[in-house]
Amino acid sequence: MKITQTVLLVVIVLLTACQPLETPTPPATRKAVVQPTATEPAAAVEPSPERLADDEGTKPAEDQATALPAETAALPKLPPSTLFDVAWDDRSPFRADLVRDEQGTLESLPGASVYHIDVALSDDLTQLRGRQEVRYTNQEEKALQEIVMRLFPNLTGGALAVSNLTVNDRSVEPQLEMSDSTMRIPLPEPLLPGEQVVLGMDFSVEIPTDESSNYGTFAYLDETLALAHAFPMIAVYDDEGWNAEIPPQSGDIVYADSSFYLVRVRAPDDLVIAASGITIGQEEIDGRQVLTMAAGPARDFYLAANPDYTVLSQQVGETTINSYAFPEISDGSALALAVAVQALETFAERFGPYPHSELDLVATPTSALGVEYPGIMAINQTIYEGSRSPFLEGTTAHEVGHQWFYNAVGNDQIDEPWLDEALVQYITMLYFEDAYGPAGREGFRESLLARWDRVDGAEIPIGMPVEAYPGPDYGAIVYGRGPLFFEALAEKLGEETFESFLRDYYETFKWNVASGQDLKALAESHCDCDLTDLFEEWVY
Ligand SMILES: [Zn+2]
Repeated sequence: MKITQTVLLVVIVLLTACQPLETPTPPATRKAVVQPTATEPAAAVEPSPERLADDEGTKPAEDQATALPAETAALPKLPPSTLFDVAWDDRSPFRADLVRDEQGTLESLPGASVYHIDVALSDDLTQLRGRQEVRYTNQEEKALQEIVMRLFPNLTGGALAVSNLTVNDRSVEPQLEMSDSTMRIPLPEPLLPGEQVVLGMDFSVEIPTDESSNYGTFAYLDETLALAHAFPMIAVYDDEGWNAEIPPQSGDIVYADSSFYLVRVRAPDDLVIAASGITIGQEEIDGRQVLTMAAGPARDFYLAANPDYTVLSQQVGETTINSYAFPEISDGSALALAVAVQALETFAERFGPYPHSELDLVATPTSALGVEYPGIMAINQTIYEGSRSPFLEGTTAHEVGHQWFYNAVGNDQIDEPWLDEALVQYITMLYFEDAYGPAGREGFRESLLARWDRVDGAEIPIGMPVEAYPGPDYGAIVYGRGPLFFEALAEKLGEETFESFLRDYYETFKWNVASGQDLKALAESHCDCDLTDLFEEWVY
């Protein structure tokens, strides 16, 4: 879509007054924001270890392997999936989710977790019940005694209860911690580096019907179902060990590794469903729709649904971009689609190709402006048209940018939120530059300064954990000052060197997790210089 000069000027003028961002609540409602304090879940249902199945004498797989001669001993045979007729190592269901140049990824990441999930939504869309099986590989250099999963709905106003938990078909009793948001799964035998286990569990989820927690990203509201982090997720094991904490509710709450998801959802027939990945199967059983989706590599699996969604689509190279919204905001939906097309082209050109064959935008009642998920983004339905519509372009471009920095290149979003948020703000400025020239860049830059001005331009470090920023500091510093650090870094390195550094950063850490030190070391290797002073001035 061509955007006229008049529209451009209006956009720039408005951008200087209001900053399109997702995680901090937009200015119009900012005063109503609950201050980010230590979070207690509104409701948590006690999972029922007493309902764990009896151990029926399943012979542990480890024992079977010991019978093999040492030189031919293979890894213990794992229980096959009971949910899909797909071997754990069979990556073929994910082939169509990746563009041609990304197909090699299917032969890499051998240790990525594989999730098989089969869930049914209740007719009133407030409950989810089902089963999950996960093939986990110990990719660490030490034996693991336990595996930690996160039960985020117990922190976001709903409840997630797990039952019948097994490790390689052997019943185990989990230990719940951190307001039931962390499930420690004891392993019957230590899991050596490279070894694998299959975790099996039934689970049920109560879906909240208000937006009191985490921006309404996990809720059934206004007839829209938004399912963020609604299933048990494996935590990241990093230099802290199992990295699990109760995240502040003012930022993104999930820190996860790239994984592969096969998901079957049974839902009322009239729902239009948008989700991470692609749909690889669709049938009707007993008057309900049964969708099978494949997503990967992906750090999460998100789903949104509403009976009234209509879809606008556009093809960009090998990628289809879909915009899900309501008929009454179809003009805004078309604009969001046009912005996503241009953002995808800009970021692909600058950093490297978008890896997936599909990218979805979905209008939801979230109280954030927008929130990123793998292959899909939620956009606040009130910014498509009307007085808040100036937020739409920046929000959409920003969320598209997260597909590069958040989903492909991961980071600890709780401890180092600047790595995705500040960088994505910076590349959103590049989007405006590519779309509208220097005036577009300057317009967006003014909005960054205005945001930083909320703390009077205080030189607060951009590289702290979310919880270290009180009140408005998080938005002002990570989203306002943060992108200006990347501008300073670009100036220090020179434009050409900085661009090749960012391309390298994307390629090097794609599907992995980068730390601030990783970013610094890579930038230093590109400029052959010491960036310690610059980082001390801005980051730490
Ligand atoms: Zn963001």
